[in-house]
Amino acid sequence: MNSTVPFQRAASSDGFPERRFQVFTARNLERIPGVSRLSAEQRFAMEVVASVLPFRVNEYVVNELIDWGRVPDDPIFQLVFPQRDMLAPESFARMAEAIRSGADRSAIQLLAREIRGTLNPHPAGQMELNVPQHQGESVEGMQHKYRETVLFFPSQGQVCHSYCTFCFRWAQFVGDKELRFASNEADSLLDYLRGHPQVSDLLMTGGDPMVMKTRNLAQYLEPLLEPGLEHVQTVRIGTKALTFWPYRFVTDKDADELLRLLERLVDSGRHVAIMAHYNHPQELSTPIAEEAIRRVRATGAEIRSQGPLLNHINNEASDWAALWRKQVQLGIIPYYMFVERDTGARRYFEVPLARAWEVYREAMKQVSGLGRTARGPSMSADPGKVEIQGISEIRGEKVFVLRFIQGRNPDWVQRPFFARFDPDATWLNQLQPAFGEKEFFFEAEYREMLEQARA
Ligand SMILES: *Cc1c(COP(=O)(O)O)cnc(C)c1O
Repeated sequence: MNSTVPFQRAASSDGFPERRFQVFTARNLERIPGVSRLSAEQRFAMEVVASVLPFRVNEYVVNELIDWGRVPDDPIFQLVFPQRDMLAPESFARMAEAIRSGADRSAIQLLAREIRGTLNPHPAGQMELNVPQHQGESVEGMQHKYRETVLFFPSQGQVCHSYCTFCFRWAQFVGDKELRFASNEADSLLDYLRGHPQVSDLLMTGGDPMVMKTRNLAQYLEPLLEPGLEHVQTVRIGTKALTFWPYRFVTDKDADELLRLLERLVDSGRHVAIMAHYNHPQELSTPIAEEAIRRVRATGAEIRSQGPLLNHINNEASDWAALWRKQVQLGIIPYYMFVERDTGARRYFEVPLARAWEVYREAMKQVSGLGRTARGPSMSADPGKVEIQGISEIRGEKVFVLRFIQGRNPDWVQRPFFARFDPDATWLNQLQPAFGEKEFFFEAEYREMLEQARA
């Protein structure tokens, strides 16, 4: 096989000079040229919000992806920069007052922690129900919610090249150790996988595993090639690096080594999927972003795309149609459209479920069949991934038609069920069963699972 050729041919010299990774945080936000041109009031609002929610952006995103002529409406600006309304007015006012009055660091941190506590830092029972047990002990840095798929959070991969303002894992980026899922134990992952032959998929996630050096990533993935782990047929890596730092796959020192690691996994017969987080076609607008995609695909790995629907960023069908069209052109397979989760700055980003479905449907109408592979809009809720299939009227009652894409019980999957239509609902827990029924079909069983887990 000569599949390594493209990486050797596309050496860092041909058209893509190396770029130094340079990052801005709340401490040096003012040094970003575009920010220093904003009004004093806007900059102060950023400082206030960034003292509660994570903020981190790198120079490539600032200089290549944001159209500063369109700030503050530019979607990538909204995707990475703190905005005043991301905090509730009362929380904003309290933090603004603390900063204005020159409160000391510890007072600000105490207040920040209090405000974070009001933002549902742990959505979807992740701590309680998803951490697996092995030989009587909780396995660190892992979640096993759906039978086939284990999520692994390598400890060196628990940051990102930039942070998304709407991130549902935001809590782990603001320093609360107990909020962090992480493991540096390749052995415990491999032991667990060996003991669970029903697991076909390993999903490396974070943070962003692509912030890791290739040799660290290899420490988790290379052992999959050894005997005893043949049942792990699919290796997925969740990442936003194709947007935030495409140089990871092109000119970084260990970029070629990374591609060869992917290639070795492909050659072993595995399906390797880069689960790329995308929110807006602007993320695909640079030559380096396209080159990174080309190089990943040359390894034989697939790239599938997923991301939430967000007010202020991609709340138009035309955004999604353009995103999916461009992805199909570049060989990326659209996979999921998510509903923004019930955590963090969700009030700022949330979109009613009825609107989400309309955006999805209108976008679907505008693309060919190859662009219609994204499922959604899907809520990653406690009992499972619930998709809004449509809005309908049945015997005079307006309803949401729903189905599980994934369920804590695999038998819940693909059964249509119905909720009373509610034009304002933004999450599953705000929906009521239709037709006067007391609860949804899965609720009694789900309650039992919760009780068992607590016992
Ligand atoms: C979405 C998700 C998965 C993967 O589900 P697929 O339907 O296989 O893509 C696995 N674990 C958790 C916790 C998830 O939310």
